[in-house]
Amino acid sequence: MGEAEWDVVVIGAGPGGGSAALHCARLGLNTLILEEHEQIGIPVHCGECLSEVAVQNLDLKLPEEVISLHVKGIRVLFPNKIEKTLTEPGYVLEKHLFEEWLINEAVKEGATFKASHKVRSLSKKFKLENQFSNWEIGGKGELFPITAKIIIDASGVAGISSKILNNSNKIEVIAGYQYEMSEVKNDGYLDFYIWPKYAPEGYVWMIPKKDERANVGLVTTKKKDKVKSLDSFIQDTYLNSNEKVDPPWRKKGTKIKPFGGTIPISGPRNNTIDDGLIMVGDAAGFTSPLFEGGSHLAMKSGKFAAQVAEEAIKKNKYSKIELKKYEKLWKEEFPPYHKILKGKKALYDLTDEELAIMASCMPDEMNGMSTITKLGVGVKILIKKPKLIRKKVISVLLSFGYSRAKYYGW
Ligand SMILES: Cc1cc2nc3c(=O)[nH]c(=O)nc-3n(C[C@H](O)[C@H](O)[C@H](O)COP(=O)(O)OP(=O)(O)OC[C@H]3O[C@@H](n4cnc5c(N)ncnc54)[C@H](O)[C@@H]3O)c2cc1C
Repeated sequence: MGEAEWDVVVIGAGPGGGSAALHCARLGLNTLILEEHEQIGIPVHCGECLSEVAVQNLDLKLPEEVISLHVKGIRVLFPNKIEKTLTEPGYVLEKHLFEEWLINEAVKEGATFKASHKVRSLSKKFKLENQFSNWEIGGKGELFPITAKIIIDASGVAGISSKILNNSNKIEVIAGYQYEMSEVKNDGYLDFYIWPKYAPEGYVWMIPKKDERANVGLVTTKKKDKVKSLDSFIQDTYLNSNEKVDPPWRKKGTKIKPFGGTIPISGPRNNTIDDGLIMVGDAAGFTSPLFEGGSHLAMKSGKFAAQVAEEAIKKNKYSKIELKKYEKLWKEEFPPYHKILKGKKALYDLTDEELAIMASCMPDEMNGMSTITKLGVGVKILIKKPKLIRKKVISVLLSFGYSRAKYYGW
């Protein structure tokens, strides 16, 4: 059995793959990134928000050209015109430029990047019986077949390794779509509307960008009606006189239509490693389940994967058992998914009236709530509508809390 050509092959050039490749290359690993599309980050399938906490946590020096707008935080809008803000600064990115920049940083550190390379098959090679040696990767593109000691699967919601190898559970997904709109005024906040009328089991967003551009979209489990619901929201609100336009990355002259994709919402897969294989980002199911932010988690898991890959390669041992540390790292660091999921379920059991009562008990600014303020919210709810406590409204409030930037919400 000959030596594998590459220490690490990263599948996918999204934020998870870019971060994994950058850190692998920085650690001196011989790294190849494969991306199925011709151009990095296109089509965009993201609302494009990233918190300042994420930028600091990942030690990113964002160049100005990848930033569309500096934002102050999030405003959550409930039925009955109740609004609450969560002031925590961040960015709306030009996400395709951000992903391209991240890959270029990896290449500067010594990684190799290949576009138009779609992975289609993975086969394990063994030294002796049951002793893992390396991967042989097949697909469409001039470099295939490719051999690697370790694969980092950063293929997004496609989760290509799990699909081919059938080595973990299936994950639930939600559909998310948005239009780019023009001449949308903003005050520096991202608007998240918890308005079940338009987005059952989801929410609608207005994410401002530079030059009064904005991403206006929604996620909902009612996949069939998503575009109709989004159009109705636009029609029924202040946005009804704004124009839907082509985003700058789309070929001019095509019919204007919403863009987006699907997002994992059921929490991490039950298995995120295999012999010589680590899953990161959406491929591993790491999105924050309430508001579906995933870029921060994708990049952090990419960094963990690089760290574990380097240790394994140094020891020349990369079977599943040697990669266990990866699961320990993300489990210790990432948010308590079960608590967010419990709160999310309870949130979707509330009527519009109950949502409005819950929201009216919350302070206008949700950042930096002290223990006393939190207790006060509980007491107010108990007085106004005791039934809400039985409907697990405290879990709902906890899941909001665990969706903040410091818990990898965005
Ligand atoms: C509508 C919408 C809005 C969102 N808004 C936000 C937001 O505002 N903030 C936020 O943090 N998150 C948001 N998300 C989630 C976020 O986009 C993802 O969590 C994040 O992009 C995950 O990064 P990733 O690198 O794991 O996967 P991806 O970004 O999906 O990247 C995977 C890459 O792998 C490539 N690939 C797939 N299969 C193969 C293959 N077989 N061979 C080679 N390459 C392959 C794909 O082409 C892609 O480039 C949103 C998602 C959607 C759909």
